[in-house]
Amino acid sequence: LNPKLNTVEIVIQKDFLKDRVSQWKKAGETIGFVPTMGALHEGHLDLVRRAQADCNRIVVSIFVNPLQFNNAGDLAKYPRHLESDQQLLRGLGVDLVYAPSTEDFYTFHPKLNLDFGSVSAGLEGQMRPGHFSGVGIVVARLFHLVNPDRAYFGAKDLQQVAVIRTLVRDLDFPVKIIRCPTVRGSGGLALSSRNARLSPEGIVLAENLFKALQLAAADPSPDPSESIRNSIGFLTNLGGIDIEYMHWVNTETMEIWENPAAPPPEKAVCIAAWVEGVRLIDNLIC
Ligand code: AMP
Repeated sequence: LNPKLNTVEIVIQKDFLKDRVSQWKKAGETIGFVPTMGALHEGHLDLVRRAQADCNRIVVSIFVNPLQFNNAGDLAKYPRHLESDQQLLRGLGVDLVYAPSTEDFYTFHPKLNLDFGSVSAGLEGQMRPGHFSGVGIVVARLFHLVNPDRAYFGAKDLQQVAVIRTLVRDLDFPVKIIRCPTVRGSGGLALSSRNARLSPEGIVLAENLFKALQLAAADPSPDPSESIRNSIGFLTNLGGIDIEYMHWVNTETMEIWENPAAPPPEKAVCIAAWVEGVRLIDNLIC
């Protein structure tokens, strides 16, 4: 029997969180941190399990960060399932869940505007102005509070990982960032809280996004733009999928890879598309 089961602490106050973490640190324990916006699914739980494999104590935050929403309607529609999220985390034996209200977390409105250069210029950063500034501010503030040794992020949000790595390097946060593989449903659709808004037919249609990524990765053409054109052609022929962007990128700089003669050290093909009015993103790292 796991002795930690059912002992998860739900914390709202910053000072309590800081005290608890400093007790653990004094005892020489390592802290693993998984930041989330809740509505937890198997993708989030996988991050928690990976953290548990590496660290003595696990902190999960559940906070829907208004600063990273550039669309008030999207923020209002964001699912909130605090009770069932806590049950799931209790079942995993997480030590502490930090779930502040917006007012607890932001006692004033931050004025800072973060620009990550090329890392945040394209893809999600271009389509969602201000999004990564909001992500950077919330993650920096969470890192100050939780003071983790390791923090776990999903490759599903690949540009977010690049943004956080830039934040940590440029501001010298003493934390190791762990990028964890994307968890998918049986048909290949990347798990996301937004999938709940898709009909069963929409899910089947959305599964083609992963097929398109696999097609691009397997394309025999040495020209990255050619493989993107072929994949976009495949999706367009299906009907019902509106592609917002599809690009090959350098996973560190997030710059678009176009020159066949100069492939990046690590590359990924990234897509954003709309299915049944739901915006979905996915990528495949090669
Ligand atoms: P969110 O609650 O959407 O802010 O996501 C919290 C963390 O879970 C982020 O690091 C995401 O990248 C990660 N995540 C979300 N979906 C998945 C997934 N399908 N597989 C792996 N990680 C994920």
